[in-house]
Amino acid sequence: MAVAASPIDKTDEQKAITDMVRQFADEQILPNAEHFDHEDEFPADIVEQMKELGLFGVTIPEEYGGMGLDLTTYAMIVEELSRGWISISGIVNTHFIGSYLLMKFGTDEQKQKFLPKMATGEIRAAFSLSEPELGSDVQAIKTSAKKTGDGDYEINGQKMWVTNGLMSGLVFVLVKTDPDAEPRHKGMTCFIAEKEPGVSENTGEHAGFTVPPKIKKLGYKGVESTELVFDGYRCPAENILGGEDEGLNKGFSQMMDALEVGRVNVAARGVGIAQRALELALRYSQERKTFGKPIAQHQAIQFKLADMATQVEAARMLTMRAAMLKDAGERSDLEAGMAKLFASEAGRFCVEESFRIHGGYGYSKEYEIERLYRDAPLLLIGEGTSEIQKMVIGKKLLQRHRI
Ligand SMILES: Cc1cc2nc3c(=O)[nH]c(=O)nc-3n(C[C@H](O)[C@H](O)[C@H](O)COP(=O)(O)OP(=O)(O)OC[C@H]3O[C@@H](n4cnc5c(N)ncnc54)[C@H](O)[C@@H]3O)c2cc1C
Repeated sequence: MAVAASPIDKTDEQKAITDMVRQFADEQILPNAEHFDHEDEFPADIVEQMKELGLFGVTIPEEYGGMGLDLTTYAMIVEELSRGWISISGIVNTHFIGSYLLMKFGTDEQKQKFLPKMATGEIRAAFSLSEPELGSDVQAIKTSAKKTGDGDYEINGQKMWVTNGLMSGLVFVLVKTDPDAEPRHKGMTCFIAEKEPGVSENTGEHAGFTVPPKIKKLGYKGVESTELVFDGYRCPAENILGGEDEGLNKGFSQMMDALEVGRVNVAARGVGIAQRALELALRYSQERKTFGKPIAQHQAIQFKLADMATQVEAARMLTMRAAMLKDAGERSDLEAGMAKLFASEAGRFCVEESFRIHGGYGYSKEYEIERLYRDAPLLLIGEGTSEIQKMVIGKKLLQRHRI
């Protein structure tokens, strides 16, 4: 069931592509999501179709085989994918961040080597900051790289919670390269670590890169979240993002820049799941009767629907505004933080309200809202928790309004 159109004007191109993705979500994602979720199975067929639709190259320039579209259009696409199932948007998300990093900081050789294969989805990218002992406190990273006699870097350490950790062919991984650097963030480098997709024990030129079995999770199933173990893994200096001369010890600021667009992306996922929860609530509340009338006729339920619809619209507008500012080349750090905070909380809120409207059936695996109820909390955590967003927003506000 489609809900009232957003007041955000889409260009003809944006309308065509988001209509196409919505149809894809309705026909291919929604009817199959329950199966893949219950089995915790990678949705390989859906991913193949996404490759054919070009969805792995949305923001990659046309010269590298992508569509060359902007962040705003990408956010609209992500909303539609996430409305279908947030795990599908998760498969694209880290890939999008990887391509952003390459497009903004990569050398010409790195762009030529990776972007064409990324645009088609032939290789997919993961993004790795978190470790077993840290997530919010990125500067505490312990995984390290040391230059060897033959000019390569040897990486040792353990990463945690890597989305697409197994199926990706490239991992943009932040590691410590100068343990004595003060402040600590000046001693970190982003490596483009290559590996064999789908292989847990890499051998040959990728030896020393192990992917342990996927982590069992509450929701966000189908897309794997893994640890990564680097034990003597050799990475050539040419795989330092931006090259050794420009990129060594610049990884922290590169990754933080990428997180800004990543936050818009998570915000769009919050809008998508909130939108779906609203659609389910609108339908169920008109079907289910209590006390002789559809529950939608009880004012308490109408108030819930009103609150949900208002949150969806507000979240969408904040998300689009942050994306549009970024596309216009303006500062959007504050706005991306606000969008991520608000939209992820709106996702959680709308899913919970829709769950309540479903009464006991919301607790049954027969109903889609049960999956959404397990999926929505992830958005409160990834790309910085709500507490961390508030810290970012507060800091940026004070920077912009210094007296
Ligand atoms: C399914 C899933 C997929 C993920 N995918 C990726 C991925 O692809 N790549 C990647 O690098 N990471 C990924 N993550 C990791 C995610 O980014 C971290 O979990 C997140 O940043 C929080 O870190 P943490 O879990 O270590 O929590 P902690 O940092 O230990 O925080 C614990 C709690 O303390 C709060 N807190 C922390 N510091 C402060 C503070 N200064 N003030 C107030 N409160 C504070 C937090 O908000 C939180 O409530 C993923 C996580 C999950 C669950």
